[in-house]
Amino acid sequence: MEETKKDVILGTSNRVLEVDLTSRKYSVYNVKEDERRLYLGAKGLGLKLLFDRMQPGADPLGSDNMLAVMPGVLLGTGGPCSGRFHAVSKSPLTGLFSSSSCGGPFGMQLKTAGWDGLILKGKSETPVWLEIDSDGITFHDASELWGLDTEETQKKLSAKKAGVMAIGPAGENLVKYANIASGHRFLGRGGLGAVMGSKNVKAVVANGGKFQIQPVNSKKFEKAKKRGTKYINQNEMSSFFLRKYGTNANVNLNNSAGILPVNNFSNGRDDRAYKLSGEVISEAHNTQYHTCKPCTILCGHKGDFGGKKRAVPEFETTALMGSNIGIFDPEIIAEWNDICGKMGMDTISAGGTMAWAMEAAEKGIFDAGLRFGEKAGIAEMLHDIGYARDKGQELGLGSRALSEKYGGKDFAIHVKGLEMAAYDPRGSFGQGLAYAVANRGACHLSAYLVALEVFFGLLSPKSIRAKAEFVKFFESLTNGINSLQTCQFTMYSYTLEPPLSRFTPDTTLGILMQNIPQLAIALMDFSLYPQLWSSVTGIKMSSAEFLKAGDRIQVLERYMNTREGVTRKDDTLPPRMLKEGRPCDPDKLVVPLEKLLDRYYRLRGYDSNGIPKDETLRNFGII
Ligand code: SF4
Repeated sequence: MEETKKDVILGTSNRVLEVDLTSRKYSVYNVKEDERRLYLGAKGLGLKLLFDRMQPGADPLGSDNMLAVMPGVLLGTGGPCSGRFHAVSKSPLTGLFSSSSCGGPFGMQLKTAGWDGLILKGKSETPVWLEIDSDGITFHDASELWGLDTEETQKKLSAKKAGVMAIGPAGENLVKYANIASGHRFLGRGGLGAVMGSKNVKAVVANGGKFQIQPVNSKKFEKAKKRGTKYINQNEMSSFFLRKYGTNANVNLNNSAGILPVNNFSNGRDDRAYKLSGEVISEAHNTQYHTCKPCTILCGHKGDFGGKKRAVPEFETTALMGSNIGIFDPEIIAEWNDICGKMGMDTISAGGTMAWAMEAAEKGIFDAGLRFGEKAGIAEMLHDIGYARDKGQELGLGSRALSEKYGGKDFAIHVKGLEMAAYDPRGSFGQGLAYAVANRGACHLSAYLVALEVFFGLLSPKSIRAKAEFVKFFESLTNGINSLQTCQFTMYSYTLEPPLSRFTPDTTLGILMQNIPQLAIALMDFSLYPQLWSSVTGIKMSSAEFLKAGDRIQVLERYMNTREGVTRKDDTLPPRMLKEGRPCDPDKLVVPLEKLLDRYYRLRGYDSNGIPKDETLRNFGII
């Protein structure tokens, strides 16, 4: 750590706190400059640290699994949308390496306590909560907190300068898709809350504020920050749609494109969907900002729902707990969203699993008492999942496990065990490829192709052309963003507002992207990301190097997962997406996945079975 005076960290502290919960001892790992340059920070560095420390075959809920919580380079600098941090672990839902991002206060406090990462290893014998300050860590007995929900727990532990991350009953009860709460934001996907629960850690509190984070090159940083803020404020998606309507701006877009999940993805459009739209919700529920901090885009909102102030559910929640189970009432979805938040569990997986249970009941193979379009029993079921009671205990295993036990694999909507986000790939083939190859499962955030295919119309959504190229490109760019770390929604403004994209007509851009994707990618200006990263760290980084770091992170995570047994057979989509047309689509299209896969593997340097070749691993310095 380079300190110009006592309370300033110039660039990054590079100090990672490694905590052995079994022995209750801790040590400090100093990140080397090479690791920083090659893996950037946050997601990338977290993966690299776990790769160096974990053996293949670790039980996700065993003491040999580890949880890395990683603030990125940008956190604490006051850069645009810089309030986010990352966590990486082996997921109990998929059995593979998984990561998640969160905009809650824990990251800022950890970073300003002087830590660039926290690794939890082993398992505490009894329930504990951990308190971190700049000197190290203190263990506290958590028996009085065990059983409390995420809000109650955080309330009990929040002091003035503290950032808390906590699990709820779902994490304690090892629900496979339990999440970790920090403030009103979440490390949402992949069941990282169950990993914390399996280690008997109820909460971690960071007492920050001792250090101020100062970019090494302040002048360059301020210039990049100014440019980023300008782009965000001039881009329509970030400064109007997301800021005004939140992510529910996607409801009408998805519905009109026929990719909104309805009744367990059996259809892609419903006339009632407008009731769930950001446009309607912002008017009807008097919404106000309720965001990650700091944030420049401001997509998060809260509003008045039936006399209560509640968080406005994000689009994925609105769709998976709304249209996808036949419900079109924002008020009840906001209530269910609150229950999931308090229980500490992922709304996408909870909604997707309930949708499977509803269809399973229709088909007479499993009856949890849930029916499409009926609100009755859902609030109770969400509590039962969190507390692992009755049928809720089974639903807490996720749709893959249920379909393996009872049948119904054809309509279990997951990839690699992770329930699918709210974009039906039969109307967005590139998104289909992105889901199939995403390292953490059916994740929309790995490569958000739907934006190019549906929102901006730059790529033809029902063609395979150029899709493998753009999935690869956006996976890598997204890894860079998640390792910097900033919000993925900056991608709209940082890639579309630089002069070349801004002043090139959409038709020209579309033709170029569709027909000469490699050239279109080479011309794309995303230089703001490496500029922000290098101005903070003081390490030179070109756009090409930044993208190569994103490639490296993708391939490392893939390699870690292939060591767990992942091959081409796992890079697939739910049978429904490959075999069944939908009523909203007269052409009854399905995703032509196999052709897309071959090209994608070639571009990534994998063999035909999806395994990274030795030369690829060597090229990135992984082996
Ligand atoms: S835009 Fe939304 S998700 Fe991104 S940092 Fe801001 S509030 Fe968080």
